[in-house]
Amino acid sequence: MRSLWLDEALAGEEDAPPVEGEIRADVCIVGGGFTGLWTALQLKVREPGVDVALVEADVCGAGASGRNGGFVLSWWAKFLALEELCGVEEALHLARASASGVAEIGAFCAENGIDAHFRKDGWLWTATSPAQVGAWDDTLVRAEELGERPFLRLEPKEVGRRAASPTHLAGVFEPTAATIHPARLARGLRRLALERGVRLFEHSSMRRLDRTGPPRVHCETGSVRADRVVLALNAWAAALPELRRALVIIPSDVIATVPIPQRLRNLEWPGGTCIDDSRMMVNYWRTTLDGRIVFGKGGGGITFGARIGSDYDGVSPRANWVLDSFHRLYPSLGDVPAERSWLGPIDRSKNGLPFFGPLAGNNAILVGAGYSGNGVGPSFLGGRILASLALGIDDEWATSALVRRPGGFPPEPIRYLGGKVVPLKRLRATTQA
Ligand SMILES: Cc1cc2nc3c(=O)[nH]c(=O)nc-3n(C[C@H](O)[C@H](O)[C@H](O)COP(=O)(O)OP(=O)(O)OC[C@H]3O[C@@H](n4cnc5c(N)ncnc54)[C@H](O)[C@@H]3O)c2cc1C
Repeated sequence: MRSLWLDEALAGEEDAPPVEGEIRADVCIVGGGFTGLWTALQLKVREPGVDVALVEADVCGAGASGRNGGFVLSWWAKFLALEELCGVEEALHLARASASGVAEIGAFCAENGIDAHFRKDGWLWTATSPAQVGAWDDTLVRAEELGERPFLRLEPKEVGRRAASPTHLAGVFEPTAATIHPARLARGLRRLALERGVRLFEHSSMRRLDRTGPPRVHCETGSVRADRVVLALNAWAAALPELRRALVIIPSDVIATVPIPQRLRNLEWPGGTCIDDSRMMVNYWRTTLDGRIVFGKGGGGITFGARIGSDYDGVSPRANWVLDSFHRLYPSLGDVPAERSWLGPIDRSKNGLPFFGPLAGNNAILVGAGYSGNGVGPSFLGGRILASLALGIDDEWATSALVRRPGGFPPEPIRYLGGKVVPLKRLRATTQA
């Protein structure tokens, strides 16, 4: 069973064929989520004649892009990590670009007939226990020192009103954020990629990657040789030996309630606002157009060796834990059941920021991963960065500070044991999901 989102978005579409025989392309993208699809579309915008093949193990949108909470956020909440990485000027540039990116995604959907339920109703970053109050202070103070006010400070009563529950003690609001139906966006991008001449191969898992000479992506029934390979694999990138220490994989579990539109109206729950709290194992939630609440929870474990198995597919083994958290935050909805649950992997990088660039210095093989649970909005910029790198264009994206070698976590078993004993430090400050 897949996510509710993907089931809703897939209705009636035919899958693309698998890779058969030996194929040649200018660029081969591996992974058909937001990163791979935005990269493919950007390549076609910059150089319409470029021959792009995209290889996806399942169907486009089956990974995190079709399973997530649908929060389209900027990088302002990660501003301190950005500043630490690249200094104040570049951090400001990236944070502003990520905020504009949210609006650009909405405009792109409108222009291209993608009905992804884009609602720019903001993000409420809250505290649901006294210990969480002020989790945002350092970030807001630093932004304000620099003359930026991406967040509005709200009175506690107003936070409770906007979150539609008095269990919210404090919070701030980022008006530029949005929510989407993530699988509808992924499938819309897939449709456009096909229309623009991207050759798409689904049910084609990369089994081996030749790293010498022109790289070649080997799948079960064929292979693709390309001048450039772009690995848009998200958490699955952790299986590459070069990235084994760059990522820690943690699950994020989600439930969707039955539709309760009238009860949401009674609570005066504001439209498409996305909301989360500031717990170490963060809770995040939003409503859907048909009146459900989609509620997720990050950090329910850590994966040994960063390998993702079938335990990341299907229904969530922690659905009751997630449902309990929802009922605790919304006691007046304590009788509302979950209709569906699912889960997916989060590609946590050392500083909570994504990284892009050559795989271990090989310019013919590019990689982009490490969004750390905040990739719906930022993958739009990731596509620009990877397209510039693949085409060898020396622009602001190719020279971004996010084009870098990722920091390394300790080797196994220390990483696994450390992650079990000491919760990933400052997970919340840099991770939305
Ligand atoms: C439950 C959950 C909730 C989340 N909530 C949010 C949120 O609300 N807001 C937010 O910003 N971010 C959220 N995220 C993170 C966000 O979904 C990701 O950062 C984003 O989707 C990354 O896009 P991607 O294209 O890089 O990865 P993916 O969409 O995961 O794409 C990678 C693709 O690679 C394919 N693949 C894997 N191995 C192979 C192989 N060997 N060969 C070929 N293809 C392969 C996979 O099938 C997959 O389709 C959440 C993530 C999860 C799991």
